[in-house]
Amino acid sequence: MISKFESIFNRKPELFLFNTMSQKKERFNPIEDNKARMYCCGLTVYNYAHIGNLRKYIFDDTLRRTLEFFEYNVTHQMNVTDIGHLESDADEGEDKLEKEAKKRGEDVLALARFYEKAFFDDLQKLNILMPHLITRATEHIDCMIDLIKRIEKNGYSYFSDGNLYFDVTKMKDYGKLARLDLSSLKAGARIEVDERKRSPYDFVLWFTNSKFKNHILNWESPWGEGFPGWHIECAAMSIKYLGEQFEIHTGGIDHIPVHHTNEIAEAEAATGKDWVKYWMHSEFLVLDKEEKMSKSLGNFITLNDIITKRINPLAYRFMCLNAHYRKKMIFSYKALESAQNGYWGLKEKVINEKEKCEAKEIEQKILENNYDINDFEIARFCKSHIEQFVTAISDDLNTPVAMSVIFNLLKDNSIPSRTKYATLLIFDRVLGLGFASFTRGQITEEQKKLIEEREVARKEKNFQKADQIRETLLSQGIVLQDTLDGTHYFLE
Ligand code: AMP
Ligand code: ZN
Repeated sequence: MISKFESIFNRKPELFLFNTMSQKKERFNPIEDNKARMYCCGLTVYNYAHIGNLRKYIFDDTLRRTLEFFEYNVTHQMNVTDIGHLESDADEGEDKLEKEAKKRGEDVLALARFYEKAFFDDLQKLNILMPHLITRATEHIDCMIDLIKRIEKNGYSYFSDGNLYFDVTKMKDYGKLARLDLSSLKAGARIEVDERKRSPYDFVLWFTNSKFKNHILNWESPWGEGFPGWHIECAAMSIKYLGEQFEIHTGGIDHIPVHHTNEIAEAEAATGKDWVKYWMHSEFLVLDKEEKMSKSLGNFITLNDIITKRINPLAYRFMCLNAHYRKKMIFSYKALESAQNGYWGLKEKVINEKEKCEAKEIEQKILENNYDINDFEIARFCKSHIEQFVTAISDDLNTPVAMSVIFNLLKDNSIPSRTKYATLLIFDRVLGLGFASFTRGQITEEQKKLIEEREVARKEKNFQKADQIRETLLSQGIVLQDTLDGTHYFLE
């Protein structure tokens, strides 16, 4: 896409991303050719994803779409954690999946597959593109064992009381991502003292002697029958599919101090090379008073919960796009409802433009990327909007500014509808709100009559009746939008 706009910028625009490792926005510059290999930490599938988790996958999707927009050759990998994630991100507590399966008297893997499917359904409802590679931990135990063997061979591990540990003191720059100060940690400030570990920062590579004796899923290994520590799955699976060095690794900010810190230690101890070039972390969705939304705290809201409250999943995507991914997003139903109103307003405006032009022809060209900047007079009328949009997303995915560019474009009466619609579809390649599938849908004669009745009521200033009719229609899945040229409808 982006090379089409070179004439606007007089050069190929560059993409800048905030790297947690350097704490700076850096120009994206692949390690190899034009590649953008991205590994995105996936869900621990012992329960439904909550909308906080889903914020992170909307971020991953926006990042991938942006990289594709910039014409990088993207490989997007996501893992599914179906074993090894204990109740704490470190080595404390029981395996989350096994604990839940035991509580319910269900099979561990059946439970994992059930929630994995529910998660994928959520991703689809949010217009999130499925990763090219989806890798399950339980199907990659061999490659984890191989990586642990390399770590062991290079002298970074020790065996203690039945478990194999990573020795962080052997790593000269352990904790560089989170800028950990190991000397202060020795005092045991963050981590509970575990007498099996030489240093409180050490972590398990392979368990044969977990504190929870009745572990269900176990595998043979050179260190005895047992199961892997959590972090090794991401290090091993990403190296297997993306290589020993790749461009991007993402996660929520909670992954910085333990999970990603330990993944880096494992990968770099095994390969002896710098591992990932850009580390990207998305901020949390929080409840009132900054309370974290989490599965383990039990205060979580799922996508189905909001659908039950008649919120369109894409209204939630719209809400996320209106906040920068590195800023906390405070959730309330009130905020979500107002996001839905904004999303409906946008939908009405997009449909309105679409109805005034040959939409099918435009969709075919733009969606297939088979267009020229002069087609539909895009360059003539939308040069400055494109410039603003690209500048926004290339600035560390500034989607709130990108959204404001969309609203300004819609407001600009000097632009013909077909040009506007074509440009909107170009922008939607990054935003993923699905403009091309926006339609009004069919309503019954009875419903049409109700809309007319409401118009009369509004003219007579009988707003109570008008509101009542709006509510009745909404309960039937019909949204009304009052515009300058009358009341319009579309299906939710
Ligand atoms: P988990 O299933 O716990 O492994 O989490 C899946 C992903 O969701 C991880 O990348 C977490 O960092 C992220 N995450 C967890 N809680 C939240 C939250 N409240 N807001 C945003 N992201 C979250
Ligand atoms: Zn991970």
